[in-house]
Amino acid sequence: AQEAGGPLPVLGRDVRVPLVTGGEVTYAALDYAASAPALQRVWDDVAAYAPYYGSVHRGAGHLSQLSTELFERSRRTVAEFLGCREGDQVVFTRATTDSLNLLSAALPQGTRVFVFETEHHASLLPWRTHDVTYLDAPRSPEAAVATLEAALHGAPAGPKLVCVTGASNVTGEVWPVRELARAAHRHGARLVLDAAQLAPHRPVSLADLEADWVALSGHKLYAPFGAGVLAGRADWLVRAEPYLAGGGASRRVARGADGGVDVEWHTTAARHEAGSPNVIGAYALASACRALTEAGFDGLVAREEELLARLRAGLAGVPEVRVLSLFGEGADQVGVVSFVVEGWNSSHFAAALSAEYGIGVRDGLFCAHPLLRTLLGQQSDAPGECGAPETAPDSQPSPGEAPALNAVRVSFGAGTPDEHVD
Ligand code: PMP
Repeated sequence: AQEAGGPLPVLGRDVRVPLVTGGEVTYAALDYAASAPALQRVWDDVAAYAPYYGSVHRGAGHLSQLSTELFERSRRTVAEFLGCREGDQVVFTRATTDSLNLLSAALPQGTRVFVFETEHHASLLPWRTHDVTYLDAPRSPEAAVATLEAALHGAPAGPKLVCVTGASNVTGEVWPVRELARAAHRHGARLVLDAAQLAPHRPVSLADLEADWVALSGHKLYAPFGAGVLAGRADWLVRAEPYLAGGGASRRVARGADGGVDVEWHTTAARHEAGSPNVIGAYALASACRALTEAGFDGLVAREEELLARLRAGLAGVPEVRVLSLFGEGADQVGVVSFVVEGWNSSHFAAALSAEYGIGVRDGLFCAHPLLRTLLGQQSDAPGECGAPETAPDSQPSPGEAPALNAVRVSFGAGTPDEHVD
């Protein structure tokens, strides 16, 4: 059980790791933005169900019926967690990347997509098969809204989609989602919210945020890997060709008069969920939604802000550290902080934190290369692995030299024990 105002119990919080300097310490996992550890409660729920699971929607047997019921109940739990409105659909996917690619595949012909260059690659790249307007990095939430308004103002008629991240996976800064959704709607556009980083930290409600769709990943929301969600308006989804063609998505298949095969697709979420679905993943994701709702975001946000203040104060005391920020001082931020350390290659810095202190952080470009270039004030055409530095791994900048094109990221959340942040 959770202590009032304390961290949610997660798996692996007591893992001991050896240090290069000898001895061992309790591992401090501070890479929640990549994947958060599963909640103990989610693990227990899955363990209780695991002996009984069966394939959904197909079998007449008891376990298949039970699994179907739990799968559909999980869909309703997620719908509630995400503030879905009447008529919205919840499609289970593999994760956020999958959800946004699904939506991209479902866009009506001729849709123009508007996306800020600051997005994670998962929300920046899936739209490339459409006409895309890339928007320059705004330096404040107000500038984000103004930039979008200006772009939409001059846009030709036709279907339009805006894709925006709710909280940056690099700076942790929270984007003005409702204002952007309102701006989109004023110009006849729709908005999809990438809530991969927002949902683990703040309530995300389609109804409250006035967004048309939301995408998220279970593995960042304290469930294990394997399940994600695209939730929102049904109209474009039910008119589109299924994202995956196959069993489960089709209601009726028959040889046609022309000798081919005629298919009648489902008009429910099943349309885009062909194949045997990840029923345990969906169940785990719903369990995490329930746990977060029951813990209450008010308490989780208050505690996280306290941890964030401590971390920022600690970093402010190290003159060599420069914290990366797009919106500047005072921006609303979740528990994600990236920084560079003067005189250090970030990869070395992160490796040293792990080897010498047992602290697990992330270094690199965080699958947001254009944003990192803006934040570090560097232009580079060098190819970079997603998440890996573009510089030679053993290069250390000399004093006064611009830092290598990579940064260190510390991220935490509802499951992080307080002492890990000190
Ligand atoms: N969007 C954002 C903002 C993210 O941080 C991530 C993961 N780092 C993704 C999308 C992609 O999520 P996934 O890898 O679970 O598909």
